[in-house]
Amino acid sequence: MKNSKKTLILKPGRDRSVLGRHPWIFSGAVDRVEGHPESGESVLVRDASGLALGWAAFSPASSIRARMWNLNPAETVDKDYFENRIRQAIERRRAVVPPGETDAVRLVHAESDGLPGLVVDRYADVLVVQILTAGAEFWREIITDSLAKLTGTQVIVERSDVDVRQLEGLAARTGVLRGQTPGPVEIQENGLRFQVDVVNGQKTGFYIDQRRNRQRVGALAAGRKVLNCFCYTGGFSVYALAHEAKSVVSVDSSGEALAMGRRHVALNGLLPEKAEWIEGDVFKVLRTMRDEGRSFDMVILDPPKFAPTAAQAERAAHGYKDINLLGFKLLRPGGILATFSCSGGISAELFQKIVAGAALDAGVDARIVQTLTQGADHPVALSFPEGAYLKGLIVQV
Ligand code: SAH
Repeated sequence: MKNSKKTLILKPGRDRSVLGRHPWIFSGAVDRVEGHPESGESVLVRDASGLALGWAAFSPASSIRARMWNLNPAETVDKDYFENRIRQAIERRRAVVPPGETDAVRLVHAESDGLPGLVVDRYADVLVVQILTAGAEFWREIITDSLAKLTGTQVIVERSDVDVRQLEGLAARTGVLRGQTPGPVEIQENGLRFQVDVVNGQKTGFYIDQRRNRQRVGALAAGRKVLNCFCYTGGFSVYALAHEAKSVVSVDSSGEALAMGRRHVALNGLLPEKAEWIEGDVFKVLRTMRDEGRSFDMVILDPPKFAPTAAQAERAAHGYKDINLLGFKLLRPGGILATFSCSGGISAELFQKIVAGAALDAGVDARIVQTLTQGADHPVALSFPEGAYLKGLIVQV
């Protein structure tokens, strides 16, 4: 091991988080790097005394200078390594997503599956991959081969069109890694059908992290007049209609997403006259509705990430407060607010405080009846609390 040429040596005392299984090594923890590793290449991580701790992917451009692949200096990072890790991740899903619940599953959830920088979603027979870090980029061919072999899918699409790649010094990248460019992929979730545009849709095409929350909120929508804000392709709207909501108004700024939402109502044999679709900015639409004195029995708020990191938390908090306050004002007594944040920079505790502040300012007395989180196929490694990003509250007025 002494002979390993590419080595990252930590400053004294900075091995603690590595030994605690946290995968990130920040630049400030690094004493020196030896052997001139290239971007994404594996380096042997040593503590200040020279003791080898394990292998990491080197990210020269990022303030997260390296991400641990393992805590075992004797285990090389190679084809077998990726095959084993991906196989284990796929097997874990079998235990937590019962067959029949869906054929749209996150198979690999990056750090929480021991594969920093790699996200893999399965939509029926199509895989969608996000390669987010220099380390995952370095192994892209091996990873793609392993995925094809382990899942047997013929079509693998890449959707690495995400901002975080810039921090790694990587340009956005999209395209087809295996097979032909697919058209919309039909999936089923809890017995409902959806079409997923894996090539042009948002993220990898669908917000599968909300699957169980759609089921829960949908069930509560029975008999209610529902307002679904930030509806994307109408996930919550379809569930609400399938559970006999009285009517559903859905709002999103994306006309394409709304068009797909309309198709989803038809695809599931639901009544189009119960569904109204509004293209617009939720912040403005909610104000207009308030001024017009409109009211609902349920309001759903599932906005995009306002705060990707803690640095943007304060500005984001204003955004969350604003929409939640307006949401409360549009609710009738007895109404239900289903409110979410997928911002990594906003903790569950802070989110609850923001919603509490919004209720206070709206002059409503309200209580949490359930807290919600990301689906079981988006696990959170106990040593990596940053993996918990989605929080939701069902609040009764
Ligand atoms: N609830 C959805 C996912 C919502 S994702 C589901 O279950 O599938 C967030 C959505 O907010 C995206 O569709 C995006 O187009 C939309 N969006 C972002 N900013 C917006 C704004 N200011 N007004 C309206 N929609 C917005």
